[in-house]
Amino acid sequence: MLPASKRGKPRAEVQVDEVTGCWNYGGTLDRDGYPGMVSLPGGVRTKAHRAYFIQAGGVIPDGYHLDHLCRNRRCVNPDHMEPITPTENQERRVRGNRRNQQMIRELVTVDRLMTVEEAAESFMLPVHYIEAIIRWPQG
Ligand SMILES: [Zn+2]
Repeated sequence: MLPASKRGKPRAEVQVDEVTGCWNYGGTLDRDGYPGMVSLPGGVRTKAHRAYFIQAGGVIPDGYHLDHLCRNRRCVNPDHMEPITPTENQERRVRGNRRNQQMIRELVTVDRLMTVEEAAESFMLPVHYIEAIIRWPQG
């Protein structure tokens, strides 16, 4: 059973991870492991995960990055993407690094020393980002 997406459908080039709901892109990846460039209808070239997001009706304001909430670079599931400013993207990388992700999961779900909201405050990350770290324990 494939997890249903609110937006868009996985195409043949995509392999759905039934545990995480990630749509792992089977096309060419760039050297950083992100989906490679594709053409949108009209000929504009963009990264495949951005193309999936846009084709699912998502809007990416000028200059914004598309963050993988699931932190799986190969993923093109529009539901796992969020347009954010480059500054926010940088902050998430630093504050939500692998070590902190591990710590957040332990504090909230294993040791139960913090609520999601408290973790968001201590790590200076948005609540939905903390939820994503717990929901998609990878990366
Ligand atoms: Zn994903």
